[in-house]
Amino acid sequence: MATKNLSLSQLSGGKTYTEIVFNQVWGKVEAYRASHPQQQLFMMAFGDTTQPLPPTVVRALVEAANRLGDRQTYTGYEDISGNPALRSAVCADYYQKKMDIDPSEVFISDGAQSVSVNIQELFAPDNTVAVQNPTYPSFVEGTLVAGRPLVNLPCREDNNFVPKLPDEKVDLIYLCFPNNPTGAVATPEQLQAFVDYARSHQAVIIFDAVYSPFITTPNIPQSIYEIEGAKECAIEIGSFSKWANFTGLRVGWCVIPQELTIKNTVPGELNDLWRLRHAVKFWGTANIAQHGAIAALSPAGQQECQEVVKYYLENARLLREGLSATGLMCFGGIDSPFVWVKAPQGLSSWQFFQKMLQSTGIVGVPGSVFGDCGEGYLRLVALGPREEIEAAVKNL
Ligand code: PLP
Repeated sequence: MATKNLSLSQLSGGKTYTEIVFNQVWGKVEAYRASHPQQQLFMMAFGDTTQPLPPTVVRALVEAANRLGDRQTYTGYEDISGNPALRSAVCADYYQKKMDIDPSEVFISDGAQSVSVNIQELFAPDNTVAVQNPTYPSFVEGTLVAGRPLVNLPCREDNNFVPKLPDEKVDLIYLCFPNNPTGAVATPEQLQAFVDYARSHQAVIIFDAVYSPFITTPNIPQSIYEIEGAKECAIEIGSFSKWANFTGLRVGWCVIPQELTIKNTVPGELNDLWRLRHAVKFWGTANIAQHGAIAALSPAGQQECQEVVKYYLENARLLREGLSATGLMCFGGIDSPFVWVKAPQGLSSWQFFQKMLQSTGIVGVPGSVFGDCGEGYLRLVALGPREEIEAAVKNL
């Protein structure tokens, strides 16, 4: 007799982030639109990109499609860890050889989302997982689905939204910098403290660096591997989604260093186990998409991607400055496309969401959706078209 997976079904009934955004946030927006058809609305809730793919990427995609359409140049399955040229380009061009990462340590995935959750399969079911609060919701949802114990690391204004080290012993620590939703970044000293903790407790840091190409502040690490000792204790996750407009194409990666070891492994074993997991559960990312990613990392591609990042960061600046000029307290939006706005007059996240919608037409996501420490804030995303950001700011 088959029975359902209770770890998965505990999340049903509209409790996941995606359902909250699509049902509750979108539901309120639709209801408001129906009663106020004249009011212009500005969607800043979804973390999706809106600008076109860089031209160099488009050319590479077309060429790759043409090769697949020709019997002489057709190719099928590829290396299940990812196209070797892409893995080399991630080391040489994305990390610019600075981090001494070998292509054998890079695994290409269909974006960061799947790997950020699936990576837990490397570890024993009873391992305790620490997450920032507020956090990118998949880290929590993935932990609940896996049935692992969860520990919260509060991120508040008084610690610049960077958590303190865990008070109790934890085994896996999700860190995301630049952070979604708060837009916060961590200093080398703050990251060194986490690396030291992980090394002394044989814990593993799962470092989500999806937004690192948005870092503009000097001396803020773009990779956890800039921190001494991190290769012994950290897995890093990256993505082409936000800085190359790949949210639909789906290419990301993770780095599993050969040096990474935990209590019952030898160096290289976790890297081998992840390759084994690819062999069992994942046979690689679409070959066309990987060719697009190789093009994004070419000199011309990187230059065009820098323009993408500049565009979204300018959006974030306009939004942050526009909101601040009205007296609202804003965080983030400097090294990330997220602006984290404090609700005035003690309003709750949902009250503030409603007030922003009614008085400005701006649609965000209530901070409490990202964890109880996000209560009293609203997250706005600056990945929209410039005209919309400008019109929204003018409307404030
Ligand atoms: N990690 C963080 C922190 C994100 O914000 C997102 C997407 O919004 C992802 C991972 C997933 O990105 P991808 O499109 O590469 O799956």
